[in-house]
Amino acid sequence: MQHDHFQQVAVLGATGSIGTSALDVIARHPQLMRASVLAAGNNVDALVALCVAHRPDHAVIANPAQYANLRDGLAAAGLATQAHAGDAAIAELAASDACDTVVAAIVGAAGLASTLAAATAGKRLLLANKESLVMAGDLVMAAARRAGCEIIPIDSEHNAIFQCLRSRDASAAAGVRKIILTASGGPFRGWSPAQLADVTPAQAVAHPKWSMGPKISVDSASLMNKGLEVIEAHHLFDIPGSQIDVVVHPQSLVHSLVEFVDGSMLAQLGLPDMRTSLAVGLGWPQRIESGVSGLDLIQHGRLDFEAPDRSAFPCLDLAWRAMERGGIAPAVLNAANEVAVAAFLGGNIGFAGIPAVVENALAAVSDGQSDSIEALLDADLRARQAASSAISCLYND
Ligand code: NAD
Ligand code: MG
Repeated sequence: MQHDHFQQVAVLGATGSIGTSALDVIARHPQLMRASVLAAGNNVDALVALCVAHRPDHAVIANPAQYANLRDGLAAAGLATQAHAGDAAIAELAASDACDTVVAAIVGAAGLASTLAAATAGKRLLLANKESLVMAGDLVMAAARRAGCEIIPIDSEHNAIFQCLRSRDASAAAGVRKIILTASGGPFRGWSPAQLADVTPAQAVAHPKWSMGPKISVDSASLMNKGLEVIEAHHLFDIPGSQIDVVVHPQSLVHSLVEFVDGSMLAQLGLPDMRTSLAVGLGWPQRIESGVSGLDLIQHGRLDFEAPDRSAFPCLDLAWRAMERGGIAPAVLNAANEVAVAAFLGGNIGFAGIPAVVENALAAVSDGQSDSIEALLDADLRARQAASSAISCLYND
């Protein structure tokens, strides 16, 4: 698809790590695109400041209690930006004429409704919110197919695979032997289970290579992030788990690889900066400036690869098993993980409690339909309840 028209971009999760990187890239291309909708969860001051800088038509705050603060803040700044509040307003704007492109960068299951709305409306969807594919991958992909929605993955690994797959005839589905997702290994790579028992939230969010929001940083430290990404790759590229591998690559310069049936392996390399993925998505099929410099191969010198430690980091296999079980299991895994990560960040459980709580929820919430959003949201709710009660039984008694 050539961009023969100016792009109006909705940035959902605008105040976050991905959202601010997306706005940085958008602002570099005033002839090609602008931010027309900005949405955030709760931080009105940060949202108003972004509106001052980017002058969108619409600003939405998810927390309805913040509506008056947003409206008054926009007025005080002398902006014509229209204020909105609530989850439904985010989904409605994502599907509306206010945008052609949606950057889905809300964190967690909270991003599902707007991801699905953008897919159903046939928007160009730049998908960072991996949790929506983990929860409802079949429904999101089916909605996108029906509406002719083009999904460009923003997660760096999937963005790398997206680029590598464009090297073959897209109709030759049989040409791919496997997809290899790289993982940095996180801040605790090489640590023993005994060492992991005492890690603090501050250690877990200090990622060695990437600067990211707190939830995904903890997921990277536990390797749950890689597990979620296996499920994400399965849906995005319609490939079974048996054709997906995970390899630890501590330098985080090779963002992922595709192996073809002829023995070729293609990789995408670059500095660990999400603006590259975002520029690929915003510009595709053109290449546009992202503000990221090239990789100095001689300065970096080497690329190392090793197998993940699946016993010290059980979240990876928990995710893999949930994907193989299918149905509601990935939604249960995701919801329980969100509750467990919040409890870990709040100091209520230890790091090893994260896989324990997720495993417990997967055992407790096993049945249920998975063929509608309502059914998946019900599974999400039951998993959150199971995870919360596991947390209070296991750790507060
Ligand atoms: P973040 O915590 O920095 O930002 C989250 C954003 O979501 C904020 O703007 C926040 O206001 C908004 N938000 C939170 N709850 C909300 C709600 N209920 N309704 C509406 N908005 C809400 O997170 P992040 O690191 O930018 O990650 C965003 C998404 O991108 C996640 O799904 C993450 O897995 C994915 N991702 C991030 C990176 C990265 O480098 N940060 C890389 C790959 C994928
Ligand atoms: Mg990633």
